[in-house]
Amino acid sequence: MIIYRKEKTGAIIFNTKTKKIVEIEEELFSNTKIFINVMKKYNIFENNQNLKNILIVNNISNNVLSAPLKIFLSITNECNLQCLHCFNYIDKKSERLKYIDISTLKKIINICKTYGIFELKLSGGEPFLHPNFIKILKLLEKEEIMYTIYTNGSYLSEKNCSILKKLKYLKKIKVSIEGSKEINDYIRGKDSFNNVIKNCKNINSKLIEFNLTLNRYNYKLIFDLVKELNKNNLETTIDLGLIRYNNKIKKTDLVFKSKQEYIEFANYCKKNFFDLKKNKNYFACSGGYSSCAIDVYGNVFPCGMLQHEKKFIIGNINNESFNKIWNDIKMINFNICNECQNCLLFEKGCLGGCRSNAFYSTGDIKGKDPFCTFYQESLNNM
Ligand code: SF4
Ligand code: SF4
Repeated sequence: MIIYRKEKTGAIIFNTKTKKIVEIEEELFSNTKIFINVMKKYNIFENNQNLKNILIVNNISNNVLSAPLKIFLSITNECNLQCLHCFNYIDKKSERLKYIDISTLKKIINICKTYGIFELKLSGGEPFLHPNFIKILKLLEKEEIMYTIYTNGSYLSEKNCSILKKLKYLKKIKVSIEGSKEINDYIRGKDSFNNVIKNCKNINSKLIEFNLTLNRYNYKLIFDLVKELNKNNLETTIDLGLIRYNNKIKKTDLVFKSKQEYIEFANYCKKNFFDLKKNKNYFACSGGYSSCAIDVYGNVFPCGMLQHEKKFIIGNINNESFNKIWNDIKMINFNICNECQNCLLFEKGCLGGCRSNAFYSTGDIKGKDPFCTFYQESLNNM
């Protein structure tokens, strides 16, 4: 399926099968000849592309984008691990385990098609623990919705991987890993490192991307991890994210403790990983701008990190229109930080940091992200 989404500033076009996406500054669809040429240039069109098979979405509204580009969808809050830094903490006594039902999922698929949302990011908990997980994947395949699976890797068995290999709209399987065996098992539990490596061998490396959450213990271990993965014939990319604050994390020793630690971390990242000249908006918050999150109950949040805080529910797809939720002023203004308004580094790429970090460390969603020193050190002199 090709989605052509009109936006205030032009259009965004996406091929859900080839996973190619292109943003154009002018709305082109009215000029068929130019449109076809541009689509061929960017490899959006496959051979024999029929112009009738294009989903045209014209839903320009108050928010910057007419709809998110991606939705983080928690399909279950159940998990077999209890990782130290995970935001998906559940109190098994007070909160029942919950799995998204197929009727809610169908509503979300309908939202994706109506508003031209490009990708569902299936997470949890551990998505493989949803009793109907394979049925969910088959439904997404049938509806030609592109999706990524976020998993801890425990259930990438030979049997499951033989199913995953046949899926056409599966973009990536993002597998969490934390660095060395020692630090990984400290965070994710005994033997989890060896299990993940063993299981990932059951699937084509190209489908896998490792997800590593940078914390004060593991940021210097990345190159050793790459060697270890290569030794196991897992030649794949590692996506680096910053550790995020949540209610649980304060009780751990994983977050950076002092200004000096943030500065050392920033200098190491600048030297070794981040090319901030190429990727100016590396630190930008996408919540309420190009992404949002939906929980197992159908509640919509600007960001999935906040999904245990009822006060950040913007609406529920079971009883409100998604368009209304996306254009709610709380969604539109979500990533504004009061303290960043006059900061020179805002425009340079910081864009105000992470709202979830701010909330869980200061109690104020509009407060300052504790990583501010890190952003300053990273972006200064760029
Ligand atoms: S560097 Fe700090 S004050 Fe400046 S925009 Fe980023 S978080 Fe805000
Ligand atoms: S609040 Fe933080 S975790 Fe959530 S989307 Fe923004 S930057 Fe990402």
